[in-house]
Amino acid sequence: MSSSNFKELSWYIGHDVEVVRYEKAGHVYNIAIECNDCGTVLLSFENPNNGYQEQKEVQNPIAEGVE
Ligand SMILES: [Zn+2]
Repeated sequence: MSSSNFKELSWYIGHDVEVVRYEKAGHVYNIAIECNDCGTVLLSFENPNNGYQEQKEVQNPIAEGVE
């Protein structure tokens, strides 16, 4: 994470910021707030279900989201 306080976030005022998702085989494994102007990742979170999904992915990719 590149922005963790008031001053650092202020560097991106006026930039083109976007929320992006990263997915593999239909499973969203990461969501991030990124700046399209300078390519910086401002905030990024892993999906807490990633471990479960990776195990199930091979057998049944349609089970996405099932706890
Ligand atoms: Zn930027």
